[in-house]
Amino acid sequence: MTFSLQGKTALVTGSTSGIGLGIAIELARQGASLVLNGFGDAEAAKAQIAALGARVEHHPADMSRPADIAAMMEFAASRFGGVDVLVNNAGIQHVASVQDFPPEKWDAILAINLSSAFHTTRLALPHMLRRNWGRIINVASAHGLAASAGKSAYVAAKHGLIGLTKAVALENATTGVTCNAICPGWVLTPLVQKQIDDRAAQQGISVQQAQENLLREKEPSLQFTTPQQLGQMAVFLCSPAADNMRGIAWSNDGGWTAQ
Ligand code: NAD
Repeated sequence: MTFSLQGKTALVTGSTSGIGLGIAIELARQGASLVLNGFGDAEAAKAQIAALGARVEHHPADMSRPADIAAMMEFAASRFGGVDVLVNNAGIQHVASVQDFPPEKWDAILAINLSSAFHTTRLALPHMLRRNWGRIINVASAHGLAASAGKSAYVAAKHGLIGLTKAVALENATTGVTCNAICPGWVLTPLVQKQIDDRAAQQGISVQQAQENLLREKEPSLQFTTPQQLGQMAVFLCSPAADNMRGIAWSNDGGWTAQ
């Protein structure tokens, strides 16, 4: 793709690891300045982006806290003038049946995986609308389109995120601001590695066997999607070719939701 994101600022929530970091790297390769967010080793993530020649800052906002989110958006405005590409990616998982689901885990998953996107979006839109250009990309999931047992909060949040995507897309449909969702299948990140390790321990099988079983249950391709592939989808959604893509939920899931 020959277009550039030079002069544009991208904010990716939950970008110190996994998919968020993969998306941040691909947006930086395309010329964007980056605001990273997330816990863990922020300096290592910043160094990866800076090595690509991009301007990069990190804000440690906890996505479960609206006041932190407001502070992060103010930080982006003061350092970079505003957010042109918003990627709502931060997310957590907890696996338990509904009757055993800890209510505080339900609240945390809804706050981080869904409500945070409402807060970042409402705060990012005025700048995008002033410029009549913006990209809001929500990292949903195959679980935004189909359910799995044991993941009630995650499935509810991801279905909700796709609903939010459609509503924001429609509200801004006559402007240069688009809003779309990406729906990955399995991606081998710390979030999924924990599920593989838990299955291996619970079932008394090797981690390798648990990984194969996980793929076979859901993904006809028997392959993981990579953070880089998802980053390149985000780049495409920023390109002029995607100017009229509005409110889609775009799968990259090895055939999971084709079944
Ligand atoms: P990950 O655990 O590797 O990364 C999650 C990121 O979110 C990290 O940077 C972490 O620090 C950050 N984070 C967690 N809680 C936070 C909070 N309260 N405030 C701010 N940051 C917080 O996970 P991942 O697999 O890269 O997941 C990223 C997104 O992709 C999530 O929304 C997840 O639901 C979605 N997703 C993942 C998969 C998969 O197979 N890995 C599949 C579909 C969708």
